[in-house]
Amino acid sequence: MSKSVIIIGCGIAGPVLAMLLKHTGIEPVIYECKTETEQAGLALGVTPQTFKVLNILGLAEKVVALGQSVEHFISYSELLGGTVLVERDTGSLFRRLGWPMVMLSRARDSHFLCDSAKGRGIPVHFNKTLIAVRQAGDRVTTVFEDGTTSEADLLVGCDGLHSAVRDFVLPGTDAAQYMGLVQIGGFTPTPDIFKASKPGTSRQIFGDGAHFMGMPINDSQMLWVTTFAEPDEARENWRRLSINDSSSKEMLSGLRAAGWGNGAKELIQGSTFITKYGLYERTMRDVWHKGRVVLVGDAAHPTSPHLGQGANQAMEDCYHLVRLLCKAEPLEDESLEAAFTEYEHIRVPIVSLAVAGAKKEGENRVMSGERHAKHVTREY
Ligand SMILES: Cc1cc2nc3c(=O)[nH]c(=O)nc-3n(C[C@H](O)[C@H](O)[C@H](O)COP(=O)(O)OP(=O)(O)OC[C@H]3O[C@@H](n4cnc5c(N)ncnc54)[C@H](O)[C@@H]3O)c2cc1C
Repeated sequence: MSKSVIIIGCGIAGPVLAMLLKHTGIEPVIYECKTETEQAGLALGVTPQTFKVLNILGLAEKVVALGQSVEHFISYSELLGGTVLVERDTGSLFRRLGWPMVMLSRARDSHFLCDSAKGRGIPVHFNKTLIAVRQAGDRVTTVFEDGTTSEADLLVGCDGLHSAVRDFVLPGTDAAQYMGLVQIGGFTPTPDIFKASKPGTSRQIFGDGAHFMGMPINDSQMLWVTTFAEPDEARENWRRLSINDSSSKEMLSGLRAAGWGNGAKELIQGSTFITKYGLYERTMRDVWHKGRVVLVGDAAHPTSPHLGQGANQAMEDCYHLVRLLCKAEPLEDESLEAAFTEYEHIRVPIVSLAVAGAKKEGENRVMSGERHAKHVTREY
């Protein structure tokens, strides 16, 4: 008899995992706390290694077409008068790995993956907030806020940074900690200043105590995002804020990058919406499972976004987890324990490096004065 799997979370990892499982004959069902149509967040970068995972599902070319490949990369220092620190042709570098690196709207990516899962007959239930997990024998039961329950052979937590499944797997461990950094960003119709640039040019600017990025996410729109230190915690609900609100206007005009050159000013001024979110971390654990319950993506290993690894590491988790579950057939307590342990042995060292690297990069991005100048001259 085919096994049933409950997946909590229909962000990025959830639908990809569901489709990979379905591909192998396992029956997944997804529960998501948000509404089906929510538009939230900014953008994600999808790397060549992730396209290899999406290609198993026949979705790689379609995701490439949803965004803009990164062809060219320029880094500037605002403190050193806007000078170019480094300029690279990245397109050919990535293509040597078989696929491009693509920037795309996170909402677009998430909706596309969810629709693809539904199109393959995977049930997706929205407005379902997981509040408790019970495990008895070889069955797992999930309890939702609306009082309903569901039961399956396995449960996978793809429920992100504040994962409720993680509370069951690792009870009593630390909550997500605010890292003292926030990001504010938005989408802007491509400003005139960039219309003659090489297609797919991404830019970053190191400034005094702040960092700015501007990159195309399709033919007509660019993402911008600035990082800086802020002592007051800003929760990440990823909600898009209207730029007509007086608080948004105040937020934008107060940004250090609002007056910077190399297109930062134009990108900020042309925003169609903005979002503000704090950056969070959780202690890296080397166990991500308990019995028949296992964690994937941010639920297991949230990362700050500076190296663009969150979605990519999440999808690599999906690939390895499903590969190991296939190897573990028939799925009994012992074979599952072996599969989940091997999954952790493969993934923990790799994601630990990605998470630590992203944290370090975040610290570099908000350096001020002399430390900043020393850093950019040493690194570039
Ligand atoms: C709305 C949203 C917007 C984002 N925007 C960006 C962005 O612009 N840039 C960026 O770098 N990262 C963004 N992220 C984070 C990014 O998607 C992840 O870091 C990364 O893709 C890993 O994906 P994941 O599937 O593990 O987690 P996520 O993408 O965070 O997905 C987790 C999913 O689980 C759901 N969920 C959480 N708790 C429960 C519960 N108790 N019951 C049921 N469902 C639950 C969430 O609603 C979400 O859909 C965003 C996350 C969210 C949720």
